[in-house]
Amino acid sequence: MSIKVCKFGGTSMADGHIMRRVAQIIFADEARRYIVVSAPGKRFGADLKVTDLLYACYREIKKTGNCNESFFKIRIRFTGIVHELKLDMDIDALLDKTQADMERVRTIDFCASRGEYLNANIMAAFLHFDMVDASEFIRFDEEGMLNEKETYALAEKVLIGHTHAVIPGFYGLGADGKIKTFSRGGSDITGAIVARGARACLYENWTDVSGFFACDPRIIPQAKHIKVLSYKELRELSYSGANVLHSDCIIPVREMSIPINIRNTFRPEDEGTMILPSKRYEGAQHIVTGIAGKKNFTVIYVEHSLMNTQIGFAEKVLSVLREAEVSFEHMPTGIDTLSIVIESERLKDGKLEKILAGIHRKVNPDILRIVEDIALVVTVGHGMHRNVGTAGRLFQALSENHINVRMIDQGSSELNIIIGVDNKDCEKTIAAIYSEFFEKES
Ligand code: ADP
Ligand code: ASP
Ligand code: MG
Repeated sequence: MSIKVCKFGGTSMADGHIMRRVAQIIFADEARRYIVVSAPGKRFGADLKVTDLLYACYREIKKTGNCNESFFKIRIRFTGIVHELKLDMDIDALLDKTQADMERVRTIDFCASRGEYLNANIMAAFLHFDMVDASEFIRFDEEGMLNEKETYALAEKVLIGHTHAVIPGFYGLGADGKIKTFSRGGSDITGAIVARGARACLYENWTDVSGFFACDPRIIPQAKHIKVLSYKELRELSYSGANVLHSDCIIPVREMSIPINIRNTFRPEDEGTMILPSKRYEGAQHIVTGIAGKKNFTVIYVEHSLMNTQIGFAEKVLSVLREAEVSFEHMPTGIDTLSIVIESERLKDGKLEKILAGIHRKVNPDILRIVEDIALVVTVGHGMHRNVGTAGRLFQALSENHINVRMIDQGSSELNIIIGVDNKDCEKTIAAIYSEFFEKES
């Protein structure tokens, strides 16, 4: 029988009433046998996500040795959920044990993971499914990366023993045997691992929007809905700020070509967005499929005359980054220039100064300059390379809107055009590109 894996995000698991709807969705299709859950998210705009409350618990434990104050809010959230679900479950005992474990283990990842852990226990009891802990099969290596080989083999072995299961998202086991989390939004990756392990025909990712829109609906509320996206387009867009799905959730499903369907828990009748392997993708109706943006990058600009003729110039510059243990996003080059774009967060605690000193020492540039507070806006679409003049239209639109372009990088895949603008111009840039390719076209 075909198997579907469903992941429900934070807003879909925010309280007991919504969790009842989730149960209805699950029971509406008997193929929905493996369920991955996030921690309870926000119930309203000013609400706090349980994961954020758990990070606060960790900070309190570090300061005082216990988390009595911060854990109280978590206690209220979970006892409320159990009450709303009318579940006969000793939630107080489970919460007492969880708090005690957090105070004993005292690692940030262990604390952060407990929202998913508790929610999965509750949901499993409510659905009468088995609770299968993700630490039984998700493994990280010494570098903190997902150990794909071990994880996929274990996932298959563990899941086969359960016909129906709820699995907590967001975490697994590190190489040191301790609980380790993915980066934020990582339950999407857990869902993809489970889909692969269960050899699912579909990975349904249930959230609070009816799929992917051509840009963030908070910037353009009437943004066009995208019916089908390719894995590659999804990865480009989500990596660049369209955070509907974690960009790494493609990795576990791509080998088996499992499609991902983004669905809306609050409008289950909507068909959502289908994300397909690039080879099964028939191409967009539009030249541009989507636009996304991310703020807070720093550009290090290196100029050296005859740079292009110097063998190993870029290598020397990159060795400085390696020594500082800083990774970079992009590196557009010209004849005599090279720019390195790095997330500003990674340059804290003296790393920027260290890198600048290292570049001076290794390549003695004519000019070494930094530009901070840069946003990267990426325009993505398989249709772009087939249409002459796409870049021209894009830059014309920016110039008509008086947007100052600080950097340009056209990806070698011809799938994207990345431009750097000032942080303050990020939303305006997305809106200008959207208007050019979606409002003028239709
Ligand atoms: P979940 O908690 O279900 O994992 P997320 O908050 O991680 O949900 O992702 C869904 C959110 O992604 C939406 O509420 C929406 O605001 C945001 N979003 C950003 N860019 C886009 C886009 N291009 N299309 C749809 N939603 C987007
Ligand atoms: N709860 C985690 C977060 O808030 C993971 C997730 O929801 O995917 O980031
Ligand atoms: Mg998410």
